[in-house]
Amino acid sequence: MKTRILSALLVLALLVSLIPGGLQTGDREAELNIIDDNYRNYYEIFVGSFYDSDGDGMGDLNGVTEKLDYVADMGFNGIWLMPVMPSPTYHKYDVTDYEAIDSAYGTMDDFKILVEECHKRKIRLVIDLVMNHSSSRHLWFQEACAYLAGLEEDEKPDAAECPYVEYYHFSEKQESSSYYEVPGSRFWYEGAFWSEMPDLNLESEAVRSEFEKIADYWIGLGVDGFRMDAAMHYEENDTEDNTEILNWYYNYCKSKNPDFYMVSEVWANERTIADYYGSGTPSMFNFDAAGAEGKMMQAVRSGNASSLVRSMVTYQEDFSKKNPEYVDAPFLTNHDMGRVANALMSSEDKLKMAAGLLMMMNGSPFVYYGEEIGMKSAGTKDENKRIPMFWSETDDTGMTDGPQGMDAGIESSLPPLDEQMKDETSLLNYYKRALRLRNENPEIARGTVNLADSLCEGGLAAVTKTYEGSTIGIIYNIGEEEKTVDLSQTELSGMKLQGFLTLNGQEGTLSGNQLDMPERSICIVKSVKN
Ligand code: CA
Repeated sequence: MKTRILSALLVLALLVSLIPGGLQTGDREAELNIIDDNYRNYYEIFVGSFYDSDGDGMGDLNGVTEKLDYVADMGFNGIWLMPVMPSPTYHKYDVTDYEAIDSAYGTMDDFKILVEECHKRKIRLVIDLVMNHSSSRHLWFQEACAYLAGLEEDEKPDAAECPYVEYYHFSEKQESSSYYEVPGSRFWYEGAFWSEMPDLNLESEAVRSEFEKIADYWIGLGVDGFRMDAAMHYEENDTEDNTEILNWYYNYCKSKNPDFYMVSEVWANERTIADYYGSGTPSMFNFDAAGAEGKMMQAVRSGNASSLVRSMVTYQEDFSKKNPEYVDAPFLTNHDMGRVANALMSSEDKLKMAAGLLMMMNGSPFVYYGEEIGMKSAGTKDENKRIPMFWSETDDTGMTDGPQGMDAGIESSLPPLDEQMKDETSLLNYYKRALRLRNENPEIARGTVNLADSLCEGGLAAVTKTYEGSTIGIIYNIGEEEKTVDLSQTELSGMKLQGFLTLNGQEGTLSGNQLDMPERSICIVKSVKN
């Protein structure tokens, strides 16, 4: 009798240890083959709309810390925080102090705890760095304007008297329509985005030393990387100057932390993005593949991934030519774009397909908070793209009020997060499976891509990816019909089935060289080691 109870307990213990959530971080990593390098799965968070830890309706840093287990459990191992530094606006892309935390989000101690808790979970923390412009209320700008207003009619500005006159683009004439008057003076300043966002002069050595100090500060706090806002506007659309600026800053940061990461916003076509890889910095967001009209969503709408996989090869060729160490940064949408649920009419099947395509891309994918549950936006107003994370319909713990100026009544067509957690076939659990596949197969992020030509027809598409001598095949059947694929006579012949992504619990099966693929599915096969 006793023996039977004991063996029942043993079986129970074994079962518990097999539940992925029950594993310790270390075990999970060994099991998932996670490599500690610049290839990560990033989750983009707008802190103010994410999770409110103290009930004032404003999302905060402690709220992010509270939700780190959720982030890690999904399979993310990197976070991009939108700006957290003091600012007069809700979005905080106009900074008044580059070495502090906005009090609406919490304190520097909260930030230190967040860094520590991220690192405990092997999550790298990347913060937004807005180097193109400051707030018009930044002390540098205020002092410069006061000085210029005090000059006599014939007096020239002198940086020895006021160093800050060098910090911005001041001129005695209105150089363009994006120049504004310095009040009470004969001078103008550049504000390409907005009058309250004066453009910094990044050619100035004094400004560069300031930003080197700012890098010291955040790297000293344990920040793992910067997301460089508006990098193609540093010197308005001047690729040569801007890549030099990125190169200087990245090299500086790397001298402080050899593993430091940098991902830049260059909202441009594929050619221009490739040119910015000439900066030698690791990542550029892949705007060519992103957005409602980008390659991934086009593929979802057409039900055919063959054009997307051809682009994967083009990206590899064009980007690696400029920087062999490049890490692509694909994403579906971000805080400046209408949400993917709007672009795909909240079709859960199509949203899953978009997620599947993103998670099979090379590099480090970025997922904007709420995308994993199919949240919606409304129109073109920025506030409406940054609405409160939809944790629950019945429990308002942690729910935020959202940005001032946001329209009321923007409702998800898909259920809230707590309901999707419990549903194995939800979009959220699709994301989780896709992230897991990615974590189990390092070839997906890091492998050299080749087209599997003979399989890119009849609505199918396929590639191979090879990383450190190991090759996988990814086969896409993203249309509405199930298909039987003959892998014999192809690059994928004789491989074994490594995993699959399907809509609602269907299975991909491989017998011999015959691969049966359900509708809208992606299968991964892997070469058998000799
Ligand atoms: Ca709060």
